[in-house]
Amino acid sequence: EKKVLASSAKDLSPSYDWFQTDSLITIVIYTKQKDMSADLVIVDCQDKQLRGEIIMDDHSYLVEVDLDHAVSEDVAVNIAEKVGKVEIILKKKDNVHWKNLGQPSEGHNTFIKRTDRGLFYRKCKLVSKTEVTHDTKLFCLMLPKGTHLRVPTGQHVYLKHIIAGTEVVKPYTPVLPFLPLDFQEPPCHDDVHIYLMIKIYSHGLFTQALDHLQIGDYISVSNPEGNFKKSQVQTSEDLLLLAGGTGFTPMVKLLNFALTEVSCLRTVKLIFFNKTEDDILWRNQLEQLALKDERFEVQFILSQPSKDWVGKQGKISPSLLSEFAKRSRRDSKGLICICGPAPFTEQGMQYLKDLGYSQEEIHAFTA
Ligand code: FAD
Ligand code: NAD
Repeated sequence: EKKVLASSAKDLSPSYDWFQTDSLITIVIYTKQKDMSADLVIVDCQDKQLRGEIIMDDHSYLVEVDLDHAVSEDVAVNIAEKVGKVEIILKKKDNVHWKNLGQPSEGHNTFIKRTDRGLFYRKCKLVSKTEVTHDTKLFCLMLPKGTHLRVPTGQHVYLKHIIAGTEVVKPYTPVLPFLPLDFQEPPCHDDVHIYLMIKIYSHGLFTQALDHLQIGDYISVSNPEGNFKKSQVQTSEDLLLLAGGTGFTPMVKLLNFALTEVSCLRTVKLIFFNKTEDDILWRNQLEQLALKDERFEVQFILSQPSKDWVGKQGKISPSLLSEFAKRSRRDSKGLICICGPAPFTEQGMQYLKDLGYSQEEIHAFTA
C-alpha cells in the first residue's frame, strides 16, 4: 500500500525526458497540468547553461543543467497547452552524439514552492530610452536570444545593478510600448522586448543609475513575480482602476487585457491621481482610448494643480471613491485595482472597506 501512495504523490509533480537527433536536442517536460500557457514557461540558455522553469500555481518545476556540449543561441519553446507538454529544442553546435544531457544543478528536477526558488536574472540590453514626461522615461530592454520570458499582466520584475560596488535591486512593472487603440487586432506579442516606464528621481539611488545607462548597456532582469490573477477580471462587469503617479504602470497591461479579452466587462474606469498636469503619463493616449472605446472612461485628479486646471482636484478620499465606485447595475460584480505611493494605496484600501467593499473585490498592487 505504501508503494501505491508514494507513486501517486510522485505522479503529481512534473517530469522530463530528453532525446536527440544529429542536430537537435529536445527536452520534453510533462507538466501534468492541462492549461499550460507561454506565460508559465521561462527558459534561459546561455553558453552551456540551460534553465527551464515552469510555474504551476504557487509551485515551480525546474530543469537546470550544465549541458554536455555547446548549443547555438537559438532556442525554440513549444507548448502543447491542452496536454500540458513543454518542449525545449536546442541546436547542437557540433553534430556529435551526446552521452547525457549534462551535469544537473542542485535545483534540477525539483518541484517546490515558488517562494523557495531564488530569483533568476539574465542580462538585457538597453535598446532605447524615450521621454514620457519631464521626469519619466520609457526604457526598452531586449532579452537575450536564448531567453523565453513573458511578463504576465499584473506582475513585476526586479532590476539588478551594481552601484558604487553594491548590488541594488528594485521592482518595476512592465508596460506596453503604447496603448493599443485598435482592439480589433489580436494582441501582438513581441516576446523579445520588455518596456518599463520609470520615473527618475533627482535623489533616487537606482533611477539615477538607470538614467545614466547608455544605449547598448546591459542590466539584469529577474523572472516575473506578483499575485494578481487575471481570473479576477474575467468574472467582473465593472472594473475601477485607481492609480497614483507611476502606480499607473500595472494598469497598462490590465487595461489592454480588460478591453480586448474580457467580454463581460461593461465599464472600465481609470481614476488617475497626479501632482500636476505635466505629471500625467500617457494623457493623450488615455483620452484617445476613451473616445475610441465607450466602455472606457478616464478622470485625472490633481493634488497640486495650477490656477487654470478646470478638472478635478484633491487626493484620494471617501467622497471621491463613493462617487466613482458606483456599480453600473445594482448587483453587478465589480473589481477595484489600486496602485501608487504606499500611503495612497493604504488609504484607498481603508476607504473602500469603509464603503462596504469586500477583500475579494479589491486588488492592491504592492511588492
Ligand atoms: P530612492 O533612492 O529609493 O528614493 C526615491 C525618491 O523618493 C527620492 O527622491 C527619495 O528622496 C524619496 N524617498 C525615498 N524613500 C522615501 C520615503 N519613505 N518617503 C518619502 N520619500 C522617499 N517605479 C516606476 O517608476 N515604474 C514602475 O513601473 C514601478 N514599478 C514598481 C513595482 C513595484 C511592485 C514596486 C514596489 C515599486 C515600483 N516602482 C516603480 C518603484 C521603484 O521600485 C523604486 O522604488 C523607484 O524607482 C525609486 O527608486 P530609487 O532607488 O531611484 O529611489
Ligand atoms: P507622486 O508623488 O507623483 O504622487 C502621485 C499622486 O499620488 C499624488 O498626486 C497624490 O494624489 C497621491 N499621493 C502621493 N502621496 C500621497 C500620500 N501620502 N497620501 C495620499 N495620496 C498620496 O507619485 P510617484 O512619485 O509617481 O510615485 C508612485 C509610487 O507608486 C511609488 O511609491 C512607487 O513605488 C509606487 N508603485 C508601486 C507599484 C507596485 O507596487 N506594483 C508599481 C508602480 C509604482
